[in-house]
Amino acid sequence: MYDYWHRRYLGKVRDRLTVRRHQPHETVVLLFRPVSRWPELLTSSFHLTQGAVEVQSVTRQYTDDGGQTLTVELEKGGTQFGQLLFTVPSPYTVMEATVDGRRRSVKELDPQVISLRFTLRDRASVRIRFSSKAAAEGEVSDGATIEEKLTRVRRLLLQEYGKHQWKRERDPLSELVRTILSQATADINSDRAFARLREVFPTWEAVRDGDPQAVAEAIKSGGLGGIKGPRIQGVLRAITEEHGELDLDFLEDLQLDNARSWLESLVGVGPKTAACVLLFSLGRAVLPVDTHVHRVSCRLGLIKARLSPEKTHEVLGKMVPDDGIYDFHVNVVSHGRRVCRAQRPRCDACVLAVSCDYYHRRGW
Ligand code: SF4
Repeated sequence: MYDYWHRRYLGKVRDRLTVRRHQPHETVVLLFRPVSRWPELLTSSFHLTQGAVEVQSVTRQYTDDGGQTLTVELEKGGTQFGQLLFTVPSPYTVMEATVDGRRRSVKELDPQVISLRFTLRDRASVRIRFSSKAAAEGEVSDGATIEEKLTRVRRLLLQEYGKHQWKRERDPLSELVRTILSQATADINSDRAFARLREVFPTWEAVRDGDPQAVAEAIKSGGLGGIKGPRIQGVLRAITEEHGELDLDFLEDLQLDNARSWLESLVGVGPKTAACVLLFSLGRAVLPVDTHVHRVSCRLGLIKARLSPEKTHEVLGKMVPDDGIYDFHVNVVSHGRRVCRAQRPRCDACVLAVSCDYYHRRGW
């Protein structure tokens, strides 16, 4: 079965459709495309005054919020006016359309067909971002409730990656500095930067009072040394001013919410950094939501699409039982690194596929 569109009519045919051009410059639209559950480029039409226009490629990207982005590359331009037609099956809607990076409006020709009209200059790159209402509403693919899904995901992750014994690797102050260094960089780089910082400055007091350029130089392998250096020195100064010494062990005696608020009151310390300090150095039940935890939870459908990492801390942190937080964090991070990677997730090798909204949406 195929969709077809001609003038204002969208229908279905069993086989190929022949469309005749009635007048020299009439817009002729035809398509031979199987009925699809996804947004598709239906066809293109241009007034062919200066040679043919060809669709060079159409690429589809799946976004973590359950939507999709279609990118259409055209070639053999000239200055020609025309349009691209896209099917937009329910529950998708158009969020944004751009031609060569500039926003364009789209026209609805039919509840399921939109038109993007523009003047083509030489080559053009057209991008349309579609959102999925079902994903935005947090639809659960296999009928399980979120709680049931989370329980199943935790069990499967434990089977796959095992149970972990919590062990303090660093004191809270070192963990705080280490986590600031890890912001927006890979662990391997921040580990190197942390080791170098400790090598160049033997005490945290020396880091606090050190030459800012020397601190930035010591941590440059972690990236953003010019930002993280002053941030670390500022945090160390703030702790000294408030407590008279560079020691964060007092956090152990504070109530969890107070400890978290105190850490987050430091400039440059957000919910993730605070959670890392509390969980890894003090064993407190707080879930750090790093890029892996956010991405995997989003794809699985444990959290609603478009939830910011900050909000995810609040929502996901309450869902996972206290005694399972450490295992959940460590296992989801392992899964995000090895299988559910940001680009090209290895869904065919994933033990969570049966519970994954992203997997079901793609129809595998
Ligand atoms: S099936 Fe697995 S790898 Fe694929 S998106 Fe879901 S959790 Fe990630």
